[in-house]
Amino acid sequence: MRTGRRGGSVNGEPEVSEELTRRLKAYEGRAATVAAVGRDPVNEPMIRHWCEAMDDSNPAYQGPRAVAPPTMLQVWTMGGLSGHTGRTDAYDELLGLLDEAGCTAVVATDCEQEYVRPLRPGDEITFDAVVESVSDRKSTKLGTGYFVTTRTDIRAGGELAGTHRFRILKYAPARAPARASARAPALATVPTSDRRREAPEERRPRPVVNRDNAGFWEGVDRHELLIQRCTGCGSLRFPWLPGCSACGCPEWDTVEASGEGRVFSYVVVHHPPFPAFAPPYSVALIELAEGVRIISNVVGVPYDKVRIGMPVRLRFRRYDDESVLPVFQGVSP
Ligand SMILES: [Zn+2]
Repeated sequence: MRTGRRGGSVNGEPEVSEELTRRLKAYEGRAATVAAVGRDPVNEPMIRHWCEAMDDSNPAYQGPRAVAPPTMLQVWTMGGLSGHTGRTDAYDELLGLLDEAGCTAVVATDCEQEYVRPLRPGDEITFDAVVESVSDRKSTKLGTGYFVTTRTDIRAGGELAGTHRFRILKYAPARAPARASARAPALATVPTSDRRREAPEERRPRPVVNRDNAGFWEGVDRHELLIQRCTGCGSLRFPWLPGCSACGCPEWDTVEASGEGRVFSYVVVHHPPFPAFAPPYSVALIELAEGVRIISNVVGVPYDKVRIGMPVRLRFRRYDDESVLPVFQGVSP
């Protein structure tokens, strides 16, 4: 928590002040990118790859009179791994200001495109972007923050071909008191000596909980590993998905895993180091007795003793006050 610091966040709530709002709004209308040039002209190979990835066989995108799929509009502005050209400091300053106000998380929320004229192979692309708007402070399920909309005007041969509006939410992540308190009783039942063992040094990254997988994490809170079961065809699936890949049915219920499984495959990670994990450690693909597979850690066995086929048993391991994860205890033969 960064209390006592001007512009910091307190309890996950971003700073609220008229001064901040005024400073954020001052970026509206400022250029984010000026006179940028597309890295490649509109070209057939990129169109072909896009159509293959999108499974789009529209004949308009093929042959000597092909046009580019309109939804590729942003593609022609992308800088690739080497970065963007023509970018001003204004956009980064705006994001930095939001970071300082405690809105350190970001999520892309939506994009809107308008198509003015079709793009064809050979078209040379130029573009400019502007910070179109910064919203008032908004409360969302993710947390409290600000929507920032940029508008990019994309031109071919100097003529407007389309407009791409891209919106992000910069926010202070909401705390999850329900999850933490749901776990408190479980901690209280663990003797102190075990509790120390149950809280390793590493703090694991937080899972991304969303509408489609919330039930799984609620199960983990209760120390249940839940597998989705399609109520249309009975197929079990894991990880959780909104629909059945076997029959397409969106209805499902759950089956609690027995906890028995075996190592289907594994790797031992030595490098690169990552703060949440102390190498070397094994990451295993566990095949549960029910037939579905889950990626997890094998614990209780030295990393170099994990083997394919090794029987394992589900445990729930507490990493800190907010974090319990399913792991698998190796069972030595
Ligand atoms: Zn199904």
